[in-house]
Amino acid sequence: MAIERTLSIIKPDATKRNLTGKINAKFEDAGLRIIAQKRIQLTKDQAGKFYAVHAARPFYDELCEFMASGPVVVQVLEGEGAIGKNREVMGATNPADAAAGTIRAEFAESVGENSVHGSDAPETAAEEIAFYFSDLELVG
Ligand code: ADP
Ligand code: MG
Repeated sequence: MAIERTLSIIKPDATKRNLTGKINAKFEDAGLRIIAQKRIQLTKDQAGKFYAVHAARPFYDELCEFMASGPVVVQVLEGEGAIGKNREVMGATNPADAAAGTIRAEFAESVGENSVHGSDAPETAAEEIAFYFSDLELVG
């Protein structure tokens, strides 16, 4: 499998509980390298642009409010099959369905406040990385 890059976000519920290091350890233990990382606070408008694909879904407004409610850590993970591997490490969207040992099983508070975001395909990974990072900031 090829070396890939994927966008990860440690969400406000997790930064609030000081879980950045514990979550990063999960990525590194799985062989994913954190090749870019910054802590930022999104406005609701910026969160809305990032999650525009979900604009028609009933939870969109709640999701944008939540993502702007505190700091997030945006990061690029690199490794063999990084997009799928990160989704495995994250676990299912709803922590009630997430496999044991996954980030969401261990840390997520609810289906909305679920600690991490991860890109779901090569095209979205490229778009999402470019949303937060310039090429100069990506040092593999
Ligand atoms: P994932 O983050 O696992 O890729 P989705 O892309 O389907 O999941 O949804 C994006 C985000 O929207 C989720 O991570 C979660 O924060 C929120 N979300 C998804 N489904 C719901 C829901 N039923 N109620 C509230 N928030 C939700
Ligand atoms: Mg998604």
